[in-house]
Amino acid sequence: MSAPFCNVALPVPLRTTFTYAVPEAMRTSLQIGGRVLVPFRKKSIVGVVVEFVPGPPASPKVREITRALDLTPALTPKLLELGHWIASYYLAPVGEVFRSMLPPLTELSARLEVALTAAGRAAAEEHKKNLLLAEGGPEESRELVALLKKAKPISLAAGVKQGIGSEVLQRLRHRGLVEIREVVKGRKQKTQRIIAWKGTNSSSKVDSAKLERLRSILEIDRGPLPLPQLLKLGHASRSLIARLLRDGVLTSWEEPIDPAEDPFDSGYEPPAHTLNEAQESAFNAIRARFELGEFGVQLLHGVTGSGKTEVYLRAVQDTLARGKTAIVLVPEIALTLWVGRQCRAWFGAQFEGVVVLHSALSDTERARAWWRVRHGEARVVVGTRSAVFAPLENLGLIIVDEEQESSYKQEETPRYHGRDVAIVRAKLENALALLGSATPSLETYHHAREGKYELLTIAARVASRPLPSVAVISLGEEFEQTHKTSPISSALSAGIEECLANGTQALILINRRGYSWSVLCRSCGASVQCVNCSISMTHHKNRNRLECHYCGSIQQIPKQCPKCHSKYVYFFGEGSEHLEERLRQEFPKARVARLDRDTARTKRQFQETLGAFASGALDVLVGTQMLAKGHDFHHVTLVGVVSADASLSMPDFRAAERTFQLLTQVAGRAGRGDLPGRVLIQTYFPDHYAIQDAVKQDYGAFFERELHFRRVMAYPPFTSLANVIVRDTSLEKAILWSRELSEYFAPHNGETVRILGPAAAPLARLKREHRFQFLLKSKSRAKLTRLLSGALVYCDSKEIPQTAILADVDPLSLL
Ligand code: ADP
Ligand code: ZN
Ligand code: ZN
Repeated sequence: MSAPFCNVALPVPLRTTFTYAVPEAMRTSLQIGGRVLVPFRKKSIVGVVVEFVPGPPASPKVREITRALDLTPALTPKLLELGHWIASYYLAPVGEVFRSMLPPLTELSARLEVALTAAGRAAAEEHKKNLLLAEGGPEESRELVALLKKAKPISLAAGVKQGIGSEVLQRLRHRGLVEIREVVKGRKQKTQRIIAWKGTNSSSKVDSAKLERLRSILEIDRGPLPLPQLLKLGHASRSLIARLLRDGVLTSWEEPIDPAEDPFDSGYEPPAHTLNEAQESAFNAIRARFELGEFGVQLLHGVTGSGKTEVYLRAVQDTLARGKTAIVLVPEIALTLWVGRQCRAWFGAQFEGVVVLHSALSDTERARAWWRVRHGEARVVVGTRSAVFAPLENLGLIIVDEEQESSYKQEETPRYHGRDVAIVRAKLENALALLGSATPSLETYHHAREGKYELLTIAARVASRPLPSVAVISLGEEFEQTHKTSPISSALSAGIEECLANGTQALILINRRGYSWSVLCRSCGASVQCVNCSISMTHHKNRNRLECHYCGSIQQIPKQCPKCHSKYVYFFGEGSEHLEERLRQEFPKARVARLDRDTARTKRQFQETLGAFASGALDVLVGTQMLAKGHDFHHVTLVGVVSADASLSMPDFRAAERTFQLLTQVAGRAGRGDLPGRVLIQTYFPDHYAIQDAVKQDYGAFFERELHFRRVMAYPPFTSLANVIVRDTSLEKAILWSRELSEYFAPHNGETVRILGPAAAPLARLKREHRFQFLLKSKSRAKLTRLLSGALVYCDSKEIPQTAILADVDPLSLL
């Protein structure tokens, strides 16, 4: 029996919960952790019940809960506890934290069904014979008999759902005669028609302007599109499209809306490897931890290609065998498919239920998968960042693969780090957190060395494969010799030539997309900046326009300088589009493709390109960071890095660490098959330690040097950091609020907490907002948190809107 009032956490940017009255009919069923629909201001919103309170609140105007959505509370007690921890550690409103933990709100999640239990069925048979003798009176009998007549469970009407059932059903339920359960029904897979450009047909009599518009949409701007979207964008009629399909100008196919299933899943046979000695000893250490049956953190530091996945799978298997459940976090969606496929192949038959959770699933699919997990139908969850909240019970293991990846950090409220949350969750659940990486973050490796985490090392690749050999190409020297600037140095060019001759593959990494990433005036030196952001516009040649990569704004390509009107506007800084063009020119026979956010707009396009490369249908693949992660291609013998300099020169204390990690990871894509691999890194800073250590693939050396720098500069892991951004579209307001905040901070600036700022943020303008920055550093986490939370309260008291203050605890990016 719950109290007449309860506190509800709502997804609103306010750091408090709200009290609501519990209607009579809900008193027996409402539970902590359950979702409720409540009136808030003039809207209805969904929140989570966090506690019951006996007395009425101070405010007399307390409103009633409209409806309870869950019979099984969505959030388990452990997840509620985790949510509260996140809210206090990251200083985020608890309701917003819960929102990121909950499944998407869909019709499916709230469907309730009533069914007879075995006892209920027996009772109903009895009652059918003699209605009047029934124990609970004729009303209950009728209800039971009605249920019996319908062979299947019936769904509760929406009205019944409000208080979970009529009184009668409630009583029957208490007596164990019926059960009311949430059912997540699988909907029939919906498909949509996709239209693509095929080729011009001279005999087609369609108006050429119309054709040109469609071509530019389908070929250049957007790629293949669902029919309704094309009709809208192209101002075209259905009959026009039908005619062009007949003429063979367009082509079409049916595609599931967000395919949930991995097309390569069925029939996949994982290679059965016996663990080698190093893998075996890592696995034994993991098993020994399990034996202890208590919380622990282990770091599996294994070079690229050392077979970490194999160890993960064994660890999951062992967890399941102990009757527990496991979460496997991977840094990106493509890897969920790959790791999910392996898990299903391993555990699917043995243990019903491996679930894949990531943000590219549709809401319905995600909700369905989420509730399957919540109802205990799945015991392994593979997913990206937010899968750390998968509602598994009896959790034994959380794996965080490539723990250093920045994609684990959420860059919106709540700004949590998935790896750190995984560790806290493991602690709450008495589970093991297993972090894996070839290039652990400084923080993690430091903890491992200090003995806070247990360090497991695999120093060599499987099957005695050598690590690739890495060489640096100094772009400065190259220029002195050739007097040419080309994104492809002569050494890289020769390397590609060799691959083509041997029938092996090359992977070329470039970390900017577009054609040129800067447009400059030779006369006055002005560069073309975004109107909303203090960032150069990127030239996209295919789309024939300039784009801002931060806010997406678009500009025409200027014919003259916007400042001095000179005609000498020039483009510089090669992007991936440019590189692809160069490679095609230089190697006309090679089969070249590009993989970046422009070419891989959909999951299907992404998989197609990767699939084509994996199957050998491509010789050279050009791409951005997304190529560096995890993929296991066996015919790549050359990896080229066009320039390591962009990431090295970022105004960020982690620039060296990121560069080292990126280079080591991408180098790790070479030589994973029988042939050895080679890596060429082009740079203007060949002597930089991040590059030198990457060449030697010497993680230890890099770690020591970088750790020293962090100690001297008082950066993490030696201090805790928080980044506070004050932002507004009005410059005056942004300045005023920064000044107010700085008045609050001033007396606290000292030995224990160092406060830097306010200064213009490196991205001084972003999406039309002016941005100022404070950086807080402290050796004491507690003091940092206290000061920051005091600052937020102070901002509230000054009526600075909460959206104007962005507090980022343990920031990964200081831009
Ligand atoms: P990592 O994640 O450490 O870079 P992977 O787990 O992707 O490495 O493994 C690299 C390759 O080695 C995969 O193709 C995998 O199938 C293979 N492999 C794993 N373990 C063994 C083993 N014991 N013997 C032979 N090959 C193995
Ligand atoms: Zn100019
Ligand atoms: Zn912009």
